[in-house]
Amino acid sequence: MSIYDLTLEELENYFIGIGDKKFRAVQLYDWLYKKRVTSFDNMPNIKKEIITKLKADFVINEIELINRLDGKDVSKFLFKLKDNNVVEAVLMHHDYGNSLCVSSQVGCNMSCTFCESGRRKKVRNLETNEMVLQLLEIEKQLNIRISHVVLMGIGEPFDNYDNIINFIDIINSGKGIDIGARHITVSTCGIIPKIEEFMKRKVQINLAISLHAPNDELRTKLMPINKAYPLNKLIPVLKKYIQVTNRRVTLEYILLDNINDTTTNALELCNLIKGMNAYVNLIPYNETSHIEYKKSSHDKIMKFYDILKKNKINVTIRKEFGSEVMAACGQLRSKYEEER
Ligand code: SAH
Repeated sequence: MSIYDLTLEELENYFIGIGDKKFRAVQLYDWLYKKRVTSFDNMPNIKKEIITKLKADFVINEIELINRLDGKDVSKFLFKLKDNNVVEAVLMHHDYGNSLCVSSQVGCNMSCTFCESGRRKKVRNLETNEMVLQLLEIEKQLNIRISHVVLMGIGEPFDNYDNIINFIDIINSGKGIDIGARHITVSTCGIIPKIEEFMKRKVQINLAISLHAPNDELRTKLMPINKAYPLNKLIPVLKKYIQVTNRRVTLEYILLDNINDTTTNALELCNLIKGMNAYVNLIPYNETSHIEYKKSSHDKIMKFYDILKKNKINVTIRKEFGSEVMAACGQLRSKYEEER
């Protein structure tokens, strides 16, 4: 098992279980995540026999970086996993810090029609360590600290629930990587039972919902998951989520030319979410060669934005990053798989 799979609490239980002290977990976390040591032999304050036990039970593994593309304010990374599958991660330099977009699965089963990742079925879930290692490796490569993490890469995080929860716990731990909860965002296509489970944790993590359409007919066309979890069920759950966690929810809305970007769509959206403590993030579509959708023109995006504003909806337009480095979710992996 990888040492990067374990939360601090799991490690504490491990050390208690082998007859050692609970605080050993904090010492080990310090070596792994503060000092970034990658060998059990370089942890002098941990007794020899404990080191031997650790070596027998865990590996300090690495993730193989096989490609890196740099653009303006953005770098894209392609990683090869131990079973030769590949996933990608994107690092964006914002004025407020460095934000990392991590993948949570190899492929995705949600089949959203506009999404490159969804064209390729899920091969498997990422293990917790494979998500942690995306972050550690990029910090090492660029010699930077990452301040924000978004689970918006390849995959549906709530279809890999336990592993992403552990991942969040590890990167959030003050004794470890120490990224503030308010700087971590999970994005989901709307898997209701998992939203409800997540709600019970009452943590300060940001929740983003891929909405993309203001009515069921259109949403089902774009996102098959809407058949199982339609808007008339999703919206009440989100209202409950906001009430229970006292946190604002982000609603992501990709603008696709002539598909979901009309004045009627904008008004429908206002109607759907009015009174909700939510904000809409309008996303200019990242075109990809395999999918025929086109990005809405700048004028249409502004018109849509204005309608929301006029109706007192909190709304922003997502800054565009990395079209020059194939930053659309899953694009780099697709290209790699096609060439190999
Ligand atoms: N499965 C999760 C997270 C991964 S996708 C989810 O559905 O939220 C992260 C975000 O990128 C989602 O809002 C997704 O709809 C959006 N997205 C996917 N393909 C895109 C593209 N080509 N251009 C812009 N946004 C895209």
